Amino acid sequence: MTMIADHLHHIQAQIAAACCRAGRSMDAVTLLAVSKTFPAQAVHDAALAGQRAFGENYIQEGINKILAIRAMPDMALLPLQWHCIGPIQSNKTKLVAQHFDWVHTVDRIKIAQRLSEQRPTDLMPLQICIQVNVDGGSTKSGCAPQEVMALAQAVAELPGLQLRGVMSIPDPQPTPEAMLAVHRQVVEVFRQLQTSHLPNCNQLDTISLGMTADLDCAVQAGSTMVRVGSGIFGARNYSHT
Ligand SMILES: *Cc1c(COP(=O)(O)O)cnc(C)c1O
Repeated sequence: MTMIADHLHHIQAQIAAACCRAGRSMDAVTLLAVSKTFPAQAVHDAALAGQRAFGENYIQEGINKILAIRAMPDMALLPLQWHCIGPIQSNKTKLVAQHFDWVHTVDRIKIAQRLSEQRPTDLMPLQICIQVNVDGGSTKSGCAPQEVMALAQAVAELPGLQLRGVMSIPDPQPTPEAMLAVHRQVVEVFRQLQTSHLPNCNQLDTISLGMTADLDCAVQAGSTMVRVGSGIFGARNYSHT
């Protein structure tokens, strides 16, 4: 077994245990493997071990990897899913719309409109999470909770997009209780969306929340998709990217 397969099984077991503690079904949480900075070979190894959903932060790096993986004979037929989880500049929306399946980082209408216009019509709509910044944290990206509803309404009307839920990257907190409270705010934003009965939103099912360090807490709060990088692929070395 490769080291990546080994780590993957460990993370899956950790998610299952966290679901169990939270009284949630073990398949309530999807694992997104964050392969940013790691080579296509790492994605290949994870895919052979059964992983299907991958997250990339840097658009060009992600696209190079998507194309490299598709060109591998033993990967070409696997239904891999590619999630854009990094910030998107206006001049990159076309590439994102052409190559990715999901975008987690929509935080303004202009980006949403461009993604919708530029989504090729032979592909299914781009699956969208609205990034929300609940703690005013240092990442700066993400809209404020009170802005989510208006943005969600706009996304729901765009033909090239399908709204799936919310995403957040909360800053670390000094105590587990404080972390849980922040995570619960994200879940609350999602619940408000769910109960608002937006048009065209029959698959509003995603809370993209939790990384390697805060996975357990995010699952406890209600996350449905955890984004795990270093826990699967090891420590990142940014000097090679
Ligand atoms: C890098 C990254 C992750 C994964 O972080 P780890 O701590 O390595 O698990 C998750 N989400 C986003 C948005 C990231 O940029």
